[in-house]
Amino acid sequence: MANYLLTKSSFVRGVQCQKSLYLYKNFYKERDTVSYQQQAVFNRGTTVGILARQLFPGGIDVTPESIFKYEESAKRTQELIAEGKEIIYEAAFIFEETLVAIDILVKENGSWKALEVKSSLSISETYLLDAALQYYVIKGSGLPLEDFQMVYVNRDYIRHGAIDLRQLFIRESVKKFAEKKSNFIKEQIQISKATLAQDHIPEIKIGEQCFHPYSCDFMGTCWKGIPDNSVFEIGGMTKRKMFELYHQGLVRMTDIPDTLEISPSFRIQIDAVKKNEVIIDRKGISDFLKTLHYPLYFLDFESFMPAVPVYEGSYPYEHIPFQYSLHYKDTKGGQLSHKEFLAETGIDPRKVFAERLLNDTKEKGDILVYNKDFEKKIMKDLARQFPEYRDALRERISRIKDLAIPFAKKYYYSKIMQGSHSLKAILPALAPDLKYEELKIKDGNTASITFESLQTETDLFKIMEALDNLAAYCKVDTLAMVKIMEVLEQL
Ligand code: SF4
Repeated sequence: MANYLLTKSSFVRGVQCQKSLYLYKNFYKERDTVSYQQQAVFNRGTTVGILARQLFPGGIDVTPESIFKYEESAKRTQELIAEGKEIIYEAAFIFEETLVAIDILVKENGSWKALEVKSSLSISETYLLDAALQYYVIKGSGLPLEDFQMVYVNRDYIRHGAIDLRQLFIRESVKKFAEKKSNFIKEQIQISKATLAQDHIPEIKIGEQCFHPYSCDFMGTCWKGIPDNSVFEIGGMTKRKMFELYHQGLVRMTDIPDTLEISPSFRIQIDAVKKNEVIIDRKGISDFLKTLHYPLYFLDFESFMPAVPVYEGSYPYEHIPFQYSLHYKDTKGGQLSHKEFLAETGIDPRKVFAERLLNDTKEKGDILVYNKDFEKKIMKDLARQFPEYRDALRERISRIKDLAIPFAKKYYYSKIMQGSHSLKAILPALAPDLKYEELKIKDGNTASITFESLQTETDLFKIMEALDNLAAYCKVDTLAMVKIMEVLEQL
């Protein structure tokens, strides 16, 4: 039996919702599954944490073999401190039945400092709360801390040559904040321990806390009773407004009276559900189509975003493009052709990506993308990195048009879209025959994580399979745009 009840993550969970804490401890298996994307975020945090250790090299790592052995880590930490060791990684402490581990514990000029590493570009409210808890527990367990610092990624760092860790990471003291929060932490620990001592699930109703600061992983349990087409599916509405309606008893969109003053975008979504019909603004669609000129390119990029810049001249979390799919149609109803690019793994893909893209789009014609900010940002970064292509890339940017506009503006809305105008959401409404389900890779995030993971993969078969899956996925995205365009033209 462990001699602690709470950990940093369960404490933060309790601050978000005591029911979530109780369910986590007593009904762990009921949790919603952790997505591939969430797992990738966790892994990234671990990798960045290990890299940051090199700010203080030569330390002793007390990471336990399994999460069930943190008590041993805490014991070992105390032994190492007593032995006079001055750098400890993943040092663990227990106080008031609460366990915390700190990424780096270091003694400088005779004083102890704790450093918590985050792979993010800024310090969030939750990170501050993490830090306040860690500070409280470490101090409470008897170690005098001269400082508590957050270490996070410097968004302004640009890689030149080998990674410069002192430039890549920002160190910022949060000790004052942690000290101020100590009463709150003490109270919250007591509240959480009282909750865990209960023999029943706390009666807490769903609310904004289900989404803040994290999407709760017990939504599958607590939100079971919320019907389809509820007010929670109204795209663009704040959670506050959704709950305001919900607490007035307006749970389904059909419960919302026509007299209720509400924005036109919300009204369209509600009408689509109430009337069970597709809402179409033909004039809006027609005006949009008049802005497009054949020949048309249908273009989609895929990118990955390494937290630590991998390539010369790149910055943290820069979108590194590695793939595009390009359909081309010279006239309305004309022949469709396709070109694509998929980078080799293990090399900097940016230059060859830019060259191939410029070559494949050199003929005149509007370039249709879906949500233009992403493609434009990538082209601008390429123009910055490769001045020799700057003018040509700017010329391509000037030809970009956004196919998302008619859907963002609700010129076409079906309840199937469930309040979203993403490509994946509108496709089942406009071109139901074209499906992502049969693909191994079904979304951009998975494509990104897959390609990033290939950078260190050595198994050739795995690489080949992943590249095939990536190629199949990206092609469907631009084919979807072609089909959507055809539907708009018919309308
Ligand atoms: S889904 Fe909401 S109410 Fe349920 S445990 Fe999570 S935060 Fe609490």
